[in-house]
Amino acid sequence: MDDRMFRTAMGKFATGVTVIASEVEGQVHGMTANAFMSVSLDPKLVLISIDKKAKMNEVIHKANKFTVNILSGEQQEMSMIFAGQIKENKHVEFETFEGLPVIENSLVSLACSVYQSHEAGDHTLYVGEVLNLNVKDGEPLAFYEGKYMQMT
Ligand code: FAD
Ligand code: NAD
Repeated sequence: MDDRMFRTAMGKFATGVTVIASEVEGQVHGMTANAFMSVSLDPKLVLISIDKKAKMNEVIHKANKFTVNILSGEQQEMSMIFAGQIKENKHVEFETFEGLPVIENSLVSLACSVYQSHEAGDHTLYVGEVLNLNVKDGEPLAFYEGKYMQMT
């Protein structure tokens, strides 16, 4: 099975889109991710999967904390910025929540500390314990077959 066939198959699983953010030595770093899931209610745990080659992997490893920002349908540009799909450098203003950087106007922002991490092939799975969260009304941004979609 080649990589393209695997990605085509995985792309049939419609997801929302998040931006993972963290900070090391005063430098905020963000990265678009759709490999996100809810894991446990007691304690409150979530999971993200980060490519070992991604700068974000090193940032979370050092910070031991991160935020998950679930994007609204109006935030496709944020996803494109933090996936490197917009080439020019765009200035993004982050808000601070529980001492961590969050993307303003996200549908949900979760402040997490690393509860566990697991090596899984070419990715690292980070289980995050949710320290606090913010929820706003709105429609989510969706991702399907490698394309952004609106729910309405
Ligand atoms: P870089 O590639 O260096 O940074 C990413 C981009 O964010 C750059 O353009 C950078 O300029 C910008 N940026 C970072 N911080 C700031 C800041 N403070 N202010 C302004 N701009 C900033 N990869 C995974 O590992 N796991 C996933 O679950 C995943 N899901 C994805 C889902 C979608 C829909 C897409 C489009 C991509 C996904 N990716 C995923 C791929 C991942 O988003 C990209 O490979 C990304 O470029 C990797 O980021 P990096 O941490 O290596 O940093
Ligand atoms: P795509 O067709 O490459 O992705 C479709 C699906 O395949 C994704 O939703 C994801 O489930 C899976 N996938 C893609 N790359 C993967 C990887 N390296 N590891 C594990 N699963 C992966 O969609 P696209 O629009 O071409 O994606 C844009 C870029 O973002 C590509 O470079 C892609 O590799 C990357 N991406 C990475 C992940 C990830 O690392 N988990 C997830 C989504 C997209």
